[in-house]
Amino acid sequence: MSKKLVIKNIGLLLSGKMEQPILDGDCLIAEDGKILLWGYEKDLDTEDATTIVDAHGVTLAPGLIDSHIHPVVGDYTPRQQQLHWIDSTLHGGVTTLISAGEVHMPGRPKDIVGLKAMAIAAQRWYENFRPSGMKVLAGAPVIEHGMVEQDFKDLADAGVTLLGEVGLGTVKDGKTARQMVDWARKYGIQSTIHTGGPSIPGSGLIDADMVLETGTDIIGHINGGHTALPDDQITCLCESCTAGLEIVHNGNERAALLTLNTARELKVMDRIILGTDGPAGSGVQPLGILRMVAMLSSLGDVPAEIAFCFANGNTSRQRELDTGLIEKGYCADFVLMDQAQHAPGKDILESIQLGNLPGVGMTIIDGVVCSERSRNTPPATRLPEVLN
Ligand SMILES: [Zn+2]
Repeated sequence: MSKKLVIKNIGLLLSGKMEQPILDGDCLIAEDGKILLWGYEKDLDTEDATTIVDAHGVTLAPGLIDSHIHPVVGDYTPRQQQLHWIDSTLHGGVTTLISAGEVHMPGRPKDIVGLKAMAIAAQRWYENFRPSGMKVLAGAPVIEHGMVEQDFKDLADAGVTLLGEVGLGTVKDGKTARQMVDWARKYGIQSTIHTGGPSIPGSGLIDADMVLETGTDIIGHINGGHTALPDDQITCLCESCTAGLEIVHNGNERAALLTLNTARELKVMDRIILGTDGPAGSGVQPLGILRMVAMLSSLGDVPAEIAFCFANGNTSRQRELDTGLIEKGYCADFVLMDQAQHAPGKDILESIQLGNLPGVGMTIIDGVVCSERSRNTPPATRLPEVLN
C-alpha cells in the first residue's frame, strides 16, 4: 500500500521559486515521499491518508538546504568536539546538508588513493545513515596535485557527485584547478571553491582571478570564510560568470550584503544560495540558514518569501537536486513554521523582514515527520499537529 501524507490548514504556502514565491492553496498531498499535488482542500482527494498533519494555519516551505557544511562522520564533529549538531540543525528547519569537503577528519588522507577512499566512504556512510533523518550529501574530495582524469572517473563511478572546496588542498593555481574541475564536470561531479582569505592556519588566499580561471559550478562563500575579498573582486565575480553565488553564515556580513545588492542590480538574484560553512572555527550554527534569511531580508531589503528561495529553491536549481521546491515529483521535504511569539510584524513574513527568526514547528523529510516543535528556534505562535 502506498503511503499518503496530507497536510491541511496551511496558512501560507511558499514554493522556493523566485518567479512565484507564494502558491495558492491550504493543502498539500504527498505519496510515497514525493509531492503529488497541492491546492485547496475542498478540491483535493484527501481520503485514505496514512498520515494527516493539521498545520493549524502555519507556513509551509520546502525544507531548507545548507549548501556548505563540513561533516565528518555521523552526528559528530571533531572540529569543536560536538555531538548532535546535525539534529540541532534539523531543528533549525534544514532538511538537506551539502558537504564542501570532509576536511575536519583527523588524519585526513592527502595521498590520491587515500583521499579517493575517504570520499567514497563518506558518501556511503551518510547515504546509509541519516542523522535524525537529515539528508547529508557528502563524499566531497579535496583535489591534490597528481590527480589524473581516471581518478575523477573512478570517483564518479563509485557514486561521488561533489568536489570539496578547491584550494583547501595542494592545488593552489588556476590552471591545474581548471583541468581537474573540467575532468570532474565531464563525469558529472559538481565543484566549488574556497573564496577569500585563509579560514584557519594552514589554508590560503583564493582571489577572484583564481576563482574565474578555475570555473567551478559554485563560488563557495563569496563573502569569505571568514575573510572576504576586496569589494571590487566580489562585484567582478558577480558580473563575470554564471556560477552560483554562495553566501555563508560564517563569512563577512558586509560582503554578503554587497553580493546581494550586486546580484539585484544585475538581476541575477536567482544565483544566490546559502550555507553556514559549519562546523568551523565559528562553531556550529543550528539556526544559521534562518539567520541568513532574516539578515538578508531585513538589512538587504528583500521580501522574506524571496529570501527563503535563496535557502531552498535556488540551491535546488543550482545544484540540480530533487528537493527544495514545491514541484510534483520532488521529495516531500518541508519545514513548517510560524511567526515567533511576540515578534513584531503583522505576519510571519513581515516579522522576518524586521529581522526576527520564525519559530519552527515541524520538519518532514521524504514524507515522514522528523521533528516537531523546535527546541532551538524562538517558540512559534501556532504549532502544526500530527492527527493520526
Ligand atoms: Zn572555505
